[in-house]
Amino acid sequence: MQKIYNYINGALCPPSSDSYMPNVNPATAETYSWIPDSDERDVELAVRAAEAAFPAWSQLSASKRSEFLLKIAKKINEKMDALALAESIDNGKPFSLAKAVDIPRAEQNFSFFATAILHEHTDAHISENKVINYTLKQPIGVVACISPWNLPLYLFSWKIAPALAAGNCVVAKPSEITPMTAFLLSEICIEIGLPAGVLNIIHGLGAKTGQSMVENPKVKAVSFTGGTSTGAKIAAIAAPHFKKLSLELGGKNPCIIFSDCNYKKMLQTTVKSSFANQGQICLCSSRIFIEKSIYEQFKIDFVNAVKELRLGDPLEKGTQVGAVVSKEHQQKILSYIQTAKEEGATILCGGDQETVSGRCASGFFVQPTVLEGLSPSCRTNQEEIFGPVVTLTAFETEEEVLTYANSVKYGLSAVIWTENINKASRMAMQLEAGIIWTNTWLLRDLRTPFGGMKDSGLGREGGFYALNFFTETKNICIDIDNH
Ligand code: NAD
Repeated sequence: MQKIYNYINGALCPPSSDSYMPNVNPATAETYSWIPDSDERDVELAVRAAEAAFPAWSQLSASKRSEFLLKIAKKINEKMDALALAESIDNGKPFSLAKAVDIPRAEQNFSFFATAILHEHTDAHISENKVINYTLKQPIGVVACISPWNLPLYLFSWKIAPALAAGNCVVAKPSEITPMTAFLLSEICIEIGLPAGVLNIIHGLGAKTGQSMVENPKVKAVSFTGGTSTGAKIAAIAAPHFKKLSLELGGKNPCIIFSDCNYKKMLQTTVKSSFANQGQICLCSSRIFIEKSIYEQFKIDFVNAVKELRLGDPLEKGTQVGAVVSKEHQQKILSYIQTAKEEGATILCGGDQETVSGRCASGFFVQPTVLEGLSPSCRTNQEEIFGPVVTLTAFETEEEVLTYANSVKYGLSAVIWTENINKASRMAMQLEAGIIWTNTWLLRDLRTPFGGMKDSGLGREGGFYALNFFTETKNICIDIDNH
């Protein structure tokens, strides 16, 4: 059976412990490969390799670094099908989704930051015609990038690409639940001749491998995407050492539907924003608020559309809903559905696990589930489920729905559906979320700031926001002698 290896100092290598953990295909429940159980010894080797590579990499011109990143992007493009297949097997998501979204986006992350770095500029401030201040942005050194399982290569590359483009050397860890495409990325880096130590990829458990990356004193900045409680642990370790921190955390996103929306577009998009990737996208809307006058009609149309979603083998053409990522995650989602029942929910559709025939008979599937009849303040409406479960709630006024929407501890994203631009703008100004879509969902321009408020995180990724995070800013002041 295939073994995954760490990528340290330009070479694939086994973990110091020489022990491996099973990697399970969630659609079949079968172990299909082995993941290194790395520890602080592997992290130390990777950090040393990154430290040694830093002087040469950071002094390379931006255009040379850009060339390396473009070569990685080109290889990802060439290997599109193989990477999409690996992502689908590792994560349970439909192959069609991995091919249409995950892998193209990983390719774009590298090509975007490869070119963004060529357009970076800095400011100059001239005082009283004789003093010039100019701003210098310099790479930080060795940085850590830690990512989750829901969009494996997509989010891994979203961090690594700007870090490398800005001239840092990276020690990165994908989720131990979905390590395969990160491993394939290390093979790509070897193929394109990325200098040794510039990028190091370590596989292992969060509390062991991930935590020792954050603890390592030579790691000067940590870019993390994952759960809010993990983010809090990382912040507690990093804060006393004043490490730079970027935290992209959980969400409980509202979708607000006014009666004056483009109904057809809203309905189609709301099915996607609820159940794409089995509801396992941090930006999925899990709380749907509908203006009372169209509530009953929406309920009928939405539930009918959800019932038509094709759940099944992720590798089969036409599958729209695949497996959830693991047995543990399936159990967590089902326990939330049980909680919802205890809180008085009516299940409009779904509400249980699903058995798929054939090779996926033992896989971890959950039916797309729509609930109603819950108070906005109950656990089901307050806590992140991160699965194919949404709640419907009626509202009458803008003030009322704003109170509901902002009542959670999270503040990642929100969706507003209305044809009234004034109303949409009023709502957007008052919604507590870092990313707000009006009459659309998941439309991303990679230059725009990406991140959450409240317990959804700290800092922003995207475009120059990410490049700024991965650089140290210096002001140089010169007093010009005029005689
Ligand atoms: P997680 O927090 O369990 O794990 C994320 C990563 O952190 C993994 O690589 C894991 O190994 C590592 N990790 C775990 N404990 C660690 C520790 N003590 N020190 C260092 N690293 C550690 O999250 P998950 O279950 O993989 O992902 C789901 C969560 O991610 C959800 O809450 C979701 O909302 C969130 N998410 C947020 C965004 C965003 O952009 N805001 C995007 C995707 C996912």
